[in-house]
Amino acid sequence: MMKPIRDQYERPLRDIRISVTDQCNFRCSYCMPAEVFGKDYAFLPEEECLTFEEIYQVVSAAAELGAEKVRITGGEPLLRKNLSELIEKLATIKGIRDIALTTNAVLLTKYARDLKAAGLQRVNVSLDAIEDDVFKKMNGRSVGVRPVLRGIDAAREAGLGVKINMVVKKGVNDGQILPMATYFKDEGLTLRFIEFMDVGSTNGWNFDSVVTKKEIIQMLDTEFDVYPVEEMYYGEVASRYQYSGTKTEVGVISSVSESFCSTCTRARVSAEGRLFTCLFATEGYDLKSLLRNSASYEEAREAIASIWRRRTNRYSDERTEETAKQRGKIEMSYIGG
Ligand code: SAM
Ligand code: SF4
Ligand code: SF4
Repeated sequence: MMKPIRDQYERPLRDIRISVTDQCNFRCSYCMPAEVFGKDYAFLPEEECLTFEEIYQVVSAAAELGAEKVRITGGEPLLRKNLSELIEKLATIKGIRDIALTTNAVLLTKYARDLKAAGLQRVNVSLDAIEDDVFKKMNGRSVGVRPVLRGIDAAREAGLGVKINMVVKKGVNDGQILPMATYFKDEGLTLRFIEFMDVGSTNGWNFDSVVTKKEIIQMLDTEFDVYPVEEMYYGEVASRYQYSGTKTEVGVISSVSESFCSTCTRARVSAEGRLFTCLFATEGYDLKSLLRNSASYEEAREAIASIWRRRTNRYSDERTEETAKQRGKIEMSYIGG
C-alpha cells in the first residue's frame, strides 16, 4: 500500500465521488432550474461518459492513494443503465470500505435489491418536503412524495442504510423543517438539513435565501429535545444531534454558515471524467482523455496524486456575495454534490 497522499493543507484524500450521468428525471429549482435545463439542454451522451471500466480504474487509483469511500451520484445516478454492474466492480477494490449512492429515490423500487446484492451499502435520499404541494414545486416535475417514500421503503427492505437529505431554501420549504423532522423521527431515519449553496451560477443563490444551521436548530428546539452527538470521524460534514429518548439522529450540513474546508477530504469526478478538487471549482482535470489516450494505470494514478498534492481549495471558508457571483463554477447536476 502506498502512503496516503495529503494536499497543501495536510488534508488526506479519503472520499471519491463519481458522477455517472448529468441527466435527471427531476428539475429541482436549486439545482437544475427549468429555464436553464429545458428540453433543448444538451446532456452528455453515454459515449462521452466514463465507462464502468474507466471508473473502476479511477477508483482503484484513488484507493491506492488512500481513498476509502466511494459515492455514486449524478444527475440522477439511477438513470445510468446497468448501474449494479458498476457497484459490483467497485466492491472488489481493495481499500474501499464504503459504497454509497445519492439519489432522488424514485427508481429505487426497481433497483434497490440488485444494488444491495451488488455491494451497495447505503443510500442518501434527497427529499425536500413531506407535503406534496411544496415538494411538487421544488422538484420541477410535479412528482409527489409517494414515489420517493416508496423508494425509501424499497431501500430499507433491501437492507440498505438510508439517510434523508433536505436542502432548505428560505421562503420555499423552511416551513417543512418541523414536519420533515417529525415524520423521519417517527420513521427512525436520520434526516439531514443542508444549507442552500451557491454551487454553479444558475440557481439564483444569495445569502438571504439560506436558512442557517443556527436557525434550523432553534426551530427544532421549539418542538423536540435534541442534543449534540460527538463527531464520528475526521472530515465528517454533518453536525449531528439525537432526539432525546431515542436512537434517531438529525443533522445539519452547514456549508455556508459554518464551513468545513479545513477537513475536506473529497475528490469529485464528473460523468465525462473530469477530476475536481472542490465543489466550487471552475476547472477540472481531464482524466478521460488521459485514460483513452493509452496512458498507463500508473500514469493516471500519478496524475491524481499530483493534482491532490497541489490542492489549495477552501472556497466556503472564503465565500462572499462577490465570489458567489463568479461565473464558470461547475453546476451541481454536473458534479453531483
Ligand atoms: N439526483 C441525486 C439527488 O438529488 O440525490 C444526486 C445528485 S444531487 C446534485 C446531490 C445532492 O446535491 C442532493 O442531495 C441535492 O439536494 C444537493 N444539492 C443540489 N443543489 C444544491 C444546492 N444548491 N445547495 C445544496 N445542496 C444541493
Ligand atoms: Fe436532479 Fe438531484 Fe439535481 Fe434534483 S438535486 S435536479 S434530483 S440532480
Ligand atoms: Fe471542500 Fe471546496 Fe466545499 Fe471547502 S468549499 S468543503 S474545499 S468542496
